[in-house]
Amino acid sequence: MDYLPNILFAIILISGIGYFVRNVKRLLRNIKLGRDVDVSDDPSQRWRNMARVALGQSKMVVRPIAGILHIIVYLGFIIINIEVLEIIIDGLFGTHRVLAPLGAVYDLLIGSFEILGLLVILAVVVFWLRRNIIRLQRFVKPEMKGWPKNDGNLILYIELLLMLLFLTMNAADHQLQQLDVVHYTKAGAFPVSQLLTPLLEGMSSGTLISIERAAWWFHIIGILFFLNYLYYSKHLHILLAFPNTFYGKLRPNGQFTNLESVTREVRLMLDPNADPFAAPAGDAAPPEKFGASDVMDLNWVQLLNAYTCTECGRCTSECPANQTGKKLSPRKIMMDTRDRLEEVGINITDNKGTFQPDGKQLLDDYISREELWACTSCNACVEACPVSIDPLSIIMDMRQYLVMERSAAPPELNNMMGNIENNGAPWPFNQLDRLNWSNEN
Ligand code: SF4
Ligand code: SF4
Repeated sequence: MDYLPNILFAIILISGIGYFVRNVKRLLRNIKLGRDVDVSDDPSQRWRNMARVALGQSKMVVRPIAGILHIIVYLGFIIINIEVLEIIIDGLFGTHRVLAPLGAVYDLLIGSFEILGLLVILAVVVFWLRRNIIRLQRFVKPEMKGWPKNDGNLILYIELLLMLLFLTMNAADHQLQQLDVVHYTKAGAFPVSQLLTPLLEGMSSGTLISIERAAWWFHIIGILFFLNYLYYSKHLHILLAFPNTFYGKLRPNGQFTNLESVTREVRLMLDPNADPFAAPAGDAAPPEKFGASDVMDLNWVQLLNAYTCTECGRCTSECPANQTGKKLSPRKIMMDTRDRLEEVGINITDNKGTFQPDGKQLLDDYISREELWACTSCNACVEACPVSIDPLSIIMDMRQYLVMERSAAPPELNNMMGNIENNGAPWPFNQLDRLNWSNEN
């Protein structure tokens, strides 16, 4: 019976990690639904980008208050979870504070975890106030109603609870150490949790052990819950920000990609010596479809982008279309892409690995044409994104589909494209009149 807690712990740990692995597999399968794209160029620049943007949080501090608070939560989350290592060893082998022999280093670690824990609590409270009381503009946009709002709050509650459990566990442990209770060896420094010990004074060692054990168990169960909640939450960015910044766009923001097949056609048209009836050079097959109407038409980096979006709304708050009251929100473009991708993923799971057409697609069912054509292609959203997401590339691919597959550009654009084709300029003037302006006084 002595081993019962250890067996129970092992079962909870294996189940928690097993469920997480299952979700990671689904995530990878869904991302791989995207078209292939070559991102093998300049790996050293990519590593630098990842170190600077994901690890160094360089784009977060553009908005200093949110940036510094986010860095505290991020560091707190990573560093305090080093302690999970000790919890796992203790849980599996029935030891208590197994790393205590590290002596002064251990004291320093526990002490600094506690200070970080307190800072995380303060940061989480400020984040909650910004979302719910101050109601910052970017957190109350239409796409943030319902689940996205609840998700943002829920994760704050979980972080708060985890930190409070950690401090409660330490406070009870500290008290038990003072009482020289067997098993509770004197180890660790408790600069924050010792402020809670007056609340525990006068309690019997049995009650203190119950409090310490309860906080310990709920702390580790909470961490495993958090790990598995990630897949269903915008907080997947904790893991995906790293690959996403690594695979982020390297070319200048203003540079768009050309379709190779179209480029070939245009070259052919412009080359006076070309034989229009000659067999196409090379063995490149024309693409099956121009642009994107559904998530499977996007490339896998764009799908990775969708899963990485933190829903912070920095893109939307910089978007000139959104600022001037248009329906477009680049954050919604990413959220819709993820929602549709999840829907496709569930369809594949339910149908034993094959996608069964469901009569829906990203275009029109999630993202409207009005949103797509409201974009000025200014790249402000790409510039603002703290994790190197490129909403514009999805917008451009979907526009490409509308123009090239559906001939469904707005009339103003159709007129302009007709003029370019016929007159070599966007205006409805004869080519022979193009230089008339030079004769004007
Ligand atoms: S590129 Fe389009 S979506 Fe992005 S900020 Fe500019 S107008 Fe908005
Ligand atoms: S695309 Fe980037 S900036 Fe926009 S909401 Fe997502 S993470 Fe934030």
